Amino acid sequence: MAKKERTAIEPTRSVNYPEWYQQVVKAADLAENSEVRGCMVIKPWGYTIWENIQRNLDDMFKETGHVNAYFPLFIPKSYFEKEAEHVKGFAKECAVVTHTRLEDDGKGGLKPGGALTEELVVRPTSETIIGASFSKWVNSYRDLPLLINQWANVVRWEMRTRLFLRTTEFLWQEGHTVHATEAEAQEETEKMLGVYAKFAEKFLAIPVIQGKKSEAEKFPGAVSTYSIEAMMQDRKALQAGTSHFLGQNFAKASNIKFQSSEGVEELAWTTSWGVSTRLIGALIMAHSDDNGLVLPPKIAPAHIVIIPIIRKEEQREMVESFVNKLALELRQQYYYGRKLVVNVDNRDMAGGEKVWQWIKKGVPIRLEIGPRDIENGTVFMGRRNLAPRDKKSVAAEEFVTTATTLLDEIQQNIFDKALAFQKANSVEIDGKEEFYRYFTPENKDNPEIHGGFAYSHWCGSGECEEKIKNDLKVTIRNIPFESKEETGKCIYCGKPSSKRVIFSKAY
Ligand SMILES: [Zn+2]
Repeated sequence: MAKKERTAIEPTRSVNYPEWYQQVVKAADLAENSEVRGCMVIKPWGYTIWENIQRNLDDMFKETGHVNAYFPLFIPKSYFEKEAEHVKGFAKECAVVTHTRLEDDGKGGLKPGGALTEELVVRPTSETIIGASFSKWVNSYRDLPLLINQWANVVRWEMRTRLFLRTTEFLWQEGHTVHATEAEAQEETEKMLGVYAKFAEKFLAIPVIQGKKSEAEKFPGAVSTYSIEAMMQDRKALQAGTSHFLGQNFAKASNIKFQSSEGVEELAWTTSWGVSTRLIGALIMAHSDDNGLVLPPKIAPAHIVIIPIIRKEEQREMVESFVNKLALELRQQYYYGRKLVVNVDNRDMAGGEKVWQWIKKGVPIRLEIGPRDIENGTVFMGRRNLAPRDKKSVAAEEFVTTATTLLDEIQQNIFDKALAFQKANSVEIDGKEEFYRYFTPENKDNPEIHGGFAYSHWCGSGECEEKIKNDLKVTIRNIPFESKEETGKCIYCGKPSSKRVIFSKAY
């Protein structure tokens, strides 16, 4: 009988996936629940991941011609009401400000005072408040396209929350653009989805599928919504980013008009697109293992950690000076526009304990260096994407010259593994019975594990979509761009269909 490997995270993924997720977040010290229900405190290790996401995405936005601006946190309720579908979609999760101050309640406490004449909604998304500015900024075709991004926090009142995946307040970016023609706005919508896909794959090492959302799943007020969908290790989908073609709906609501080159007043075309701190949840669930977080080097808060192994006090000076010199050499190198981040862990605690802490935090490369390594001119190296015990001795000089190449290799390995997992858990299904069986949990003790991505035909009817959702909690994730034209029959009703779509359970 195989001996059960001891793991740093309990329970493991196969025993209780949702609880495993919470324990990974805790063990890596990424974030914690706050005293305010549904809101999270993002701790430095988690926030640095967000900063690295921001920095790299922001570069990509700038490269595609966008600039950043900032708009108010509060939206007058009347702005919100201008777009009927939009308000309908968000009404149930809005935080509303009704008063402007606190007053003495006469009983030793405080009560709200100064009722507002018009209530303010805390932004759940900013189309309407940004639209109010855009209507002033856009006058002529010469003002277009207008390509703006905002980094901000938003609030969507949630009943059931989970760190990073669904929180009442979260951090995100929202792009908002205005165009003279429908074709340009459509092109922008798809271009930014492509930027998200590239970012997810190149930086987060998460393979994604780009496609169009069904009518039922689109953004409230949009003409069409596009998404990137990623597979987590419990084989559920996670929508990792969305891009919306808003047509003229919001231009109408906010009165964004311009004078064309022929001198005719025309209504503009707009888009919006966003990704959020949810990406950190995706990152955790796509790559981490039963020993904790696994981080792709390109967004890791630290690339390398060095653990000096000092058994006798008289060795301290020699070991520390060697380690410090090595760290300095490494820190002079650049990795994707950022200097290598090398942590030296000098804390007064056992080496083995330190090693396990850094494994749980997901640092891509660990070096353990003691007197014997120094004598031999070597470092003892462990890679986070390999088993904890799988370590080897490398010449120190060689390590310095090959460190960034090694990081690239780790980045690629993490991506390849995630892609192989996604492929292994994606199937084409044509029979209804097989489809229903696919999404039924195999193991009643761990019902989170089931199915994967089913590529099946769909007739386009919202009714079939709804019935499947009610029966199985399975939704259409998107209609992939890569889906080719073919004749088939709807998985639910059997009516003709020309394309396969992705069905899956989702976060
Ligand atoms: Zn159908």
